[in-house]
Amino acid sequence: MAPTKDPVTTPNGASTRTPAKKPANSAAKAPEKAKKTAGEKTPVKTKKRAPAKAPAVEFATYAKAPARTPPAEKSAPAEGRTPVKRRRKRHFPTVFSRLMVLFVVLAAMAGTMYALLRLMNGGAEAAQTAPTPKPTVQPVATEVPAPTPEPTPSDLPDVDLNSWELRLVRYEYPLGEDFAPPELVDVGDGQQMDSRVAPAAVQLIEDAKAAGNTVWVCSGYRDYDTQHIIYWNHIYEYTQEGMTEEEAHAKTRLAVNYPGSSEHQYGLSVDILEYNGQIMEPYICDEPLMVWLKEHCAEYGFVIRYPDNKTDITGVEYEPWHLRYVGTEAAAYMMEHDLCLEEFRQLYEP
Ligand SMILES: [Zn+2]
Repeated sequence: MAPTKDPVTTPNGASTRTPAKKPANSAAKAPEKAKKTAGEKTPVKTKKRAPAKAPAVEFATYAKAPARTPPAEKSAPAEGRTPVKRRRKRHFPTVFSRLMVLFVVLAAMAGTMYALLRLMNGGAEAAQTAPTPKPTVQPVATEVPAPTPEPTPSDLPDVDLNSWELRLVRYEYPLGEDFAPPELVDVGDGQQMDSRVAPAAVQLIEDAKAAGNTVWVCSGYRDYDTQHIIYWNHIYEYTQEGMTEEEAHAKTRLAVNYPGSSEHQYGLSVDILEYNGQIMEPYICDEPLMVWLKEHCAEYGFVIRYPDNKTDITGVEYEPWHLRYVGTEAAAYMMEHDLCLEEFRQLYEP
C-alpha cells in the first residue's frame, strides 16, 4: 500500500499520487449529471425472421401439375381448324404467366407459413412427412408471430450471479463507504487482495514472470478514503484546467470509479504493470505482459474487466492492466466470448 509515484495519467487502477491539494468542494457534489447511462446500452438480441422457404421448389411442384392448365374460357369445340388454335396459342402465354405469378405468390406465402410451422415444431424430420402446401390455402394473416429465438446459449457455465465472485460493482451498484473485504493478504509489491482470490493472483503473477515478463503489482485493494482522494484529485486537476465540474466528473469517471464503487475497494481486482511508472493508457495493450494477461488471465479466474470497445457498457475506458476475479468458469466463458461482466450477467436474466 505504499504510495506510488505514477505518471500524470492515472487511470482507474493507479493508486497513484497522493492528493497534492485536497479539493475544497469534495463530498458535496455527487455527480448527478455525470450519471453514465452505461447500463442502458444493453446488447441487442436480434430476432431473425424465418426466411421464406425457397418458393422455387414449391413452384416447381405446381408448375408440373397438369391440372393447372388455364381454364378454357369460351373456347369453341376443337374442330381442327387452324385459326382457332392459333388464337388460343396466342392467349396461352398470358394466362399461363398470370397463373405462374399467382402460384409463385401463393407458394411463397404457403412456404413461409410452412417454414414458420417447422421452426415452431422444431422437427427436422417433419420435413419428410409434411404435406406439400397447396396453393388453395388461404394465408390468414401475413403477420405470423415470429418464433421465439433461443436466447440462452446451452454452454453457459452453471454459476450463481449472487455469489461474491460475480458481484457487480459500479456507480449504480456501490459497495458503500464502510465496505471492506473479510480478510486481506499480500500479493506482492506492498499490495493486498481479498484472501479468497489472492492465491490465484499470486500464481498468475509468478507464471507471468516465468513466461519471461517483468511484473509490478501496481494496485490491489484500496479503501474508500484512498479512492475518494484519487477521484477528487482528478476533479480538482480538471477543473483547474478550465473544465466545468460536470465535465470534470464525466472525464474522471471514465478512468476512476466513484468513491464507494471501485472494484479495488472490493478486493477482487488488481492492476498489473510491467514496471513501476509504466504509462497506464489503453495503447499499452500490445506490450508483452498485457498480451500475456489477456491470453492467460482466465486460467486463474480473472478477466480483463474493462475490455476494449466496451466503454459504453462498463462506463470505463479500456484498461488492459485491470484484472477482476470472477472465478475460473465465468472467466473462461467471458474471455472466450468477449463479454464484459455486465453482458455476462445479462445472459442469465430472463
Ligand atoms: Zn484497476
